[in-house]
Amino acid sequence: MTLISRRDLGRAAAALTLSSVAPVRVALAQAAAKVVVIGGGAGGASVAGQIKLASPKTEVTLIEPQQLYTSCFFSNYFIGGQRTLQSLTHNYEGLKGLGITVIHQRAASIDTSKRMVKLEGGKELSYDRLAISPGIDFKYDGIEGYSQEIAEKSAPHAWRGRDQSKLLRRMLERMPEDGVVVISVPKMPYRCPPGPYERACFIASMLKVSRPKAKLIILDAKMTYSKQPVFEEAFNTIYKGLVEVHLTNDIDDQSLAKFDTTNGEITTKAGLKVKPYIANIIPAQTAGRIAIDSGLADGDWCPVNPANFASTKIENVYVLGDSAISHEMPKSAYSASSQARVVAANIIEDLTGKPRSPGLYRNTCWSYIAPGNSVKIGADFAPGIQGGKPILVPSNSFVSKPGESAAVRKEAFDESAAWYETLTNDMFHKTVTKG
Ligand code: FAD
Repeated sequence: MTLISRRDLGRAAAALTLSSVAPVRVALAQAAAKVVVIGGGAGGASVAGQIKLASPKTEVTLIEPQQLYTSCFFSNYFIGGQRTLQSLTHNYEGLKGLGITVIHQRAASIDTSKRMVKLEGGKELSYDRLAISPGIDFKYDGIEGYSQEIAEKSAPHAWRGRDQSKLLRRMLERMPEDGVVVISVPKMPYRCPPGPYERACFIASMLKVSRPKAKLIILDAKMTYSKQPVFEEAFNTIYKGLVEVHLTNDIDDQSLAKFDTTNGEITTKAGLKVKPYIANIIPAQTAGRIAIDSGLADGDWCPVNPANFASTKIENVYVLGDSAISHEMPKSAYSASSQARVVAANIIEDLTGKPRSPGLYRNTCWSYIAPGNSVKIGADFAPGIQGGKPILVPSNSFVSKPGESAAVRKEAFDESAAWYETLTNDMFHKTVTKG
């Protein structure tokens, strides 16, 4: 992998992205430019706020169906009984106060040739530039017997949405003394790579106190995973006898073959059968539905120019957050907010006719191991080339190691709490948290 110069990057990007040839330049001094943002989560709320702050004249409209956003990030704290849902829930008043028009409806479709977004209520909005960060959708059909309905009723993934986290938490509270929890993990790429193992630590930490005879089994569709040495250390020491991990090398997205809806038994592709009290099946994922339906995806994810997260498929559109695929940069809220800064700057540069500068990004992901004990992984990312293709090249990478002192782990634990407050304050421009 090589880092490339601005000039080379410009050439590579020009070859790859349609957005670099913008047909319409809007002089901000003459007419207010219109930016529409779809999705009011980590990527969308951040980009809307950044644009409005940097260019108050720009008309920014944020489309988000929910009145309140409950973050997936830190939802494991709620599932593990260590935070309330209210503390993870934020409103859009701060963004409205900045002068952003927030419309609480779902975007139904995008006519990219006319640069129009149609809302589910029928209204149409025109845009000069569109930023879209609709998160993820799920591939429910990869496991026989499993479906969206089953996930909503009895086998929650708890990988998106407040109700899913509530269901999983409720099931944990009702679990019998010797109950079994299964967490099934898909292949990469998916939202929050270390999230399933962090969830295992939260659940195990709870079970260790309240139900020491219980068991937690991880069924993984891959042999290696994020922060593996530190999680393995925890599973083999703090949670010894409680957590069992099955890593597999299934060629498929999922290690599960079947979910028997009559008795809750699951069967893996390797033939293992388990009848858990809780089947926390995290399905394989795709970009948010609206991104796929609008022609922004290649397969499951939306390709972007790593220099600025402009879609390589459709001009005047930027895709960021989990829906975008830019190799090497993990799908996280930290990544999404870092991408939002670059996208906001690029949209303003683009609309004002200034040269668009390639972005630099950062990600850090903290994971809970035990009370007051967290670990982290992170890196900076810059546009580069690998095998002739633009990618994001990591540098200054760091990852927690087994055997670290309690003080180091406590520092990471405190950092992560501070990060949550800073990020959500930034996203929502001072939140009022009333779930
Ligand atoms: P989201 O934040 O999900 O926002 C998408 C928004 O788009 C939603 O509000 C949705 O309602 C809206 N939307 C969807 N479709 C439409 C439409 N058609 N019209 C209008 N709006 C639409 N990340 C971290 O950085 N650190 C962590 O510690 C961390 N922990 C995690 C733990 C768990 C258990 C999980 C599941 C995730 C975790 N993440 C973490 C990942 C993080 O939550 C996501 O990466 C991040 O939320 C992605 O931001 P996004 O903008 O792509 O999607």
